[in-house]
Amino acid sequence: MPDSEAIALVTGGSRGIGAACARALAQDGWRVALQYRERAAEAQALAAGLPGAQAFAADLAQPGAAQQLVDTVAESCGPPRALIHAAGAMLEKPLLFTKPEEWSRLLELHALSAWALSKALLRHLRKAPHGTGRLVFVGSLAGVVGLGNGVAYAAGKGALHGLAKSLALECARWGATANVVAPGYVETAMTAHHDAARKAAHAAAIPLGRYARPEEVAAQAAFLCRPEAAYTTGQILVLDGGMN
Ligand code: NAD
Repeated sequence: MPDSEAIALVTGGSRGIGAACARALAQDGWRVALQYRERAAEAQALAAGLPGAQAFAADLAQPGAAQQLVDTVAESCGPPRALIHAAGAMLEKPLLFTKPEEWSRLLELHALSAWALSKALLRHLRKAPHGTGRLVFVGSLAGVVGLGNGVAYAAGKGALHGLAKSLALECARWGATANVVAPGYVETAMTAHHDAARKAAHAAAIPLGRYARPEEVAAQAAFLCRPEAAYTTGQILVLDGGMN
């Protein structure tokens, strides 16, 4: 359990995996600052139901937004000691049809925001008690094995994985950890457009025979924030039902 003042920032916290992470962290005793971009009412309602939680609006695909978010959280709640970066967006398009602005947006949202959030957080983590800082990034199986028809998404997630591994090396001097949870398919709004035939085809390729639930991803992310995960760093934890 973290101490009662420990603040965890969760991005993409209004729904799906981010919301499940916010609930799991609150259950572990963290005070959660959750970022949302849209659906303010949902985010505020979720925060209202978690002890000491607050919700903050930000569009992390905008340069400068990540730094501003961390500053606002630090001023309103106190210095964050943990981050779960779950904000993300899919773009299903073949490479030949992707536009430069789509690449910029996905790289900004997945990789550059992770860099900026981490940089802003490290200013606080380095002053936290040794061994208590936690950075967890929600990556993707796509960043590990690639994704046909999703090259900009997979490239953004792959960059995020490299960032996390490098951060693990840089943060070690403060005993802070940096890890990735990299899910395959998860039952959230991101996959809600998969029709029955597509879902069945995917499920047939997954040894466990189904998509993951957001709570199953959140459980692993929250575990990585616990004191007993203090020696786990630089890892890409793939959650794909046994596919790889
Ligand atoms: P979701 O669509 O329910 O949630 C995505 C979240 O990201 C939302 O809260 C959304 O508001 C936020 N977001 C999107 N663009 C944003 C922006 N520009 N600024 C700030 N926030 C923004 O989907 P999810 O499945 O819960 O996704 C959570 C994370 O999990 C994402 O990083 C996604 O890439 C990753 N992931 C999802 C799957 C899957 O199959 N669902 C698989 C692997 C990885």
